[in-house]
Amino acid sequence: MDKDCIFCKIINGEIPSTKVYEDDEFLAFMDINPAVRGHTLVIPKYHCRNILDTPENVGKNFYNVISKVSNAVKKAFNAEGIYVFQQNENAAGQEVFHSHVHIIPRYKGDEFGKYSPPRLKVEIPEIAKDGEKIRQSF
Ligand code: 5GP
Ligand code: ZN
Repeated sequence: MDKDCIFCKIINGEIPSTKVYEDDEFLAFMDINPAVRGHTLVIPKYHCRNILDTPENVGKNFYNVISKVSNAVKKAFNAEGIYVFQQNENAAGQEVFHSHVHIIPRYKGDEFGKYSPPRLKVEIPEIAKDGEKIRQSF
């Protein structure tokens, strides 16, 4: 727990978020500035910066949770594929320094990946609806 970390604040409820999955070790919630509808983040509850300093015992179950959440996002958004990425350190584009993986629904012929798309402007109630769709998809 880092008292200045926004994702730690999301974990302990100090900052509101649309949570879609939670267990003892991990949390998944909707990105507040989604690149596409359904853009979801998965984080360990243990505070570490990124993949580079993740302790072995924290990383152990991460992949399984990413898989579970990816399947729910795919189902909720009728996606044809799922793009998973993590940016580690500033040089790689990381802006929030609490380890997190991005989950992005993908469709044949979509433009994602050909360029870096501008983020959508999605109102919070709409993001909350997207979260509900994913929660119903586990
Ligand atoms: P990074 O650039 O570090 O890989 O990704 C950070 C992500 O966190 C961005 O996609 C950004 O939109 C998201 N984000 C930043 N602050 C908040 C917040 O307070 N709540 C939520 N739900 N997402 C956030
Ligand atoms: Zn943190």
